[in-house]
Amino acid sequence: MAGVSAEALAKAAGLSGAELAALEDSGNVTKKINFAALAPLVGLDARKLERIGRGWLPSEKNLNAWRELRQLSTKERGNEVHCYLIWDDTTREAAVFDTGWTAGPILEQVGKNQLRLKHLFITHTHPDHIAGMREIQNSVPQLQIHTDAKSARPEQRNRRMDSVQLGGLRIMNRDTPGHAEDGVTYLIDHWPDKAPPVAIVGDAIFAGSMGGAAQAGTLAKQKIQAQILTLPPDTLICPGHGPLTTVGEEKQNHPFF
Ligand SMILES: [Zn+2]
Repeated sequence: MAGVSAEALAKAAGLSGAELAALEDSGNVTKKINFAALAPLVGLDARKLERIGRGWLPSEKNLNAWRELRQLSTKERGNEVHCYLIWDDTTREAAVFDTGWTAGPILEQVGKNQLRLKHLFITHTHPDHIAGMREIQNSVPQLQIHTDAKSARPEQRNRRMDSVQLGGLRIMNRDTPGHAEDGVTYLIDHWPDKAPPVAIVGDAIFAGSMGGAAQAGTLAKQKIQAQILTLPPDTLICPGHGPLTTVGEEKQNHPFF
């Protein structure tokens, strides 16, 4: 929003300063907003912004289509974060993407489904995504870590051409920095029954929104455009916060793209 004052924005939208701040925080206000006047000032698409303002949500997803994919959510001080567990039905080899606030729900699923947890893929190293890491490593000492963090040991660092096989499933990675310097998206395909690919995006993109990127907003948008929105439209997007969505739904409804 560089170059546009909050007052000018609020005036264009027909809102008070306080109401605009509430819209930026929560994505919704009760008052009718003049989206057509507001959108060009903030570089967004008016039609899509209006739809988001009215409370657009992606369609409900049924994860049973992907055997086996689970979303596990943990909450601390009002911040709910999702991590994702996948496994191969036959070999029982499993991989988890981020840990959330605590590893309890992951370890419970691993025990309940008699899985061999082999990999931890980290989307970025913000605390809410990796808080359960020590607990999970204590429980599974041979766990293989995958990350874009520069501080990680060389054997844990992702290389762009990496392709990890988990039974019949294949896991690849694409760099999506912006929200976090070490932001990376993991792409899982070769699902049973030809289920669509799955993209575990961390906080790069949310349904109708994206993770804050104070210093790197342009980079964040470029990477989302090039690395995520170029995937097939039926690709399931699994974000760190908020509802599941698809590439097709975001291309149609995301006000930034
Ligand atoms: Zn984050």
